[in-house]
Amino acid sequence: MNLLEGKTAIITGATRGIGKGIAQVFAKHGANIAFTYSSSVEAANELEKELIELGVKAKGYQSDAASFDQAQELASDVLERFGSIDVLVNNAGITKDNLLMRMSEEDFDKVIEVNLKSVFNMTKAVQKTMLKQRKGSIINMSSVVGVKGNAGQANYAASKAGIIGFSKSVALEIGSRNIRSNVIAPGFIETEMTDKLDEKVVEGWRNAIPLKRGGTPEDIANACLFLASDLSTYVTGQVLNVDGGMLT
Ligand code: NAD
Repeated sequence: MNLLEGKTAIITGATRGIGKGIAQVFAKHGANIAFTYSSSVEAANELEKELIELGVKAKGYQSDAASFDQAQELASDVLERFGSIDVLVNNAGITKDNLLMRMSEEDFDKVIEVNLKSVFNMTKAVQKTMLKQRKGSIINMSSVVGVKGNAGQANYAASKAGIIGFSKSVALEIGSRNIRSNVIAPGFIETEMTDKLDEKVVEGWRNAIPLKRGGTPEDIANACLFLASDLSTYVTGQVLNVDGGMLT
């Protein structure tokens, strides 16, 4: 069943990892995809091609999620080219981990800008269109770390916790216009972002997860599919933990 037939989705940070998984699953379900990336032009061209081959419209945009102006430009181009904006997935994110003692002001600010301000930028940019359409689904990528906190990630945890407060507020503000705003809190998902971690540490994490494995981008994409589709028309303001039971 094509759950997203005829819908247009914007997905930020989609040239690899979770964002790429979301773009692939959404396209398989019939959605037209506008995705962003920060620097990897080649990977973006490849993904664009792959999505088009699935029979949907697709375009990659080199657009910095942390820039308010670029978010505005992106949304107006997508509206003009695709005709609607039905789903927004704020997925772009970075880490700059360090103990607070060693964390620089620059590393704090950068993580807040890319992870949290980006959500404000993009939500503002699509809001008018979704209000006019009287429908829309906004999905914001937080983390178990945003729910629980984590030593060595005060900047990242603050940005991801901020996303939860922001999303719940938006759900309250524009629910009356049939615009939904939800959060996904992934646990440990094995992607390029986590490849740089020590294998021994990673094995320890896998063992501590009730389902005894790290998640895949597809695990997260399927949860996004539910929130993007009309299967979830009565779900808003929620945080969905997709973590193999990690926070249980
Ligand atoms: P990743 O590093 O593999 O991918 C991140 C993507 O964001 C990349 O495509 C990158 O180009 C893009 N990006 C970074 N800065 C950007 C910017 N300024 N503008 C536009 N795009 C930008 O990471 P991932 O593991 O796929 O994570 C995706 C999201 O899920 C992130 O928000 C991350 O915090 C969150 N998350 C990941 C995990 C995990 O275990 N992998 C767990 C919880 C939450």
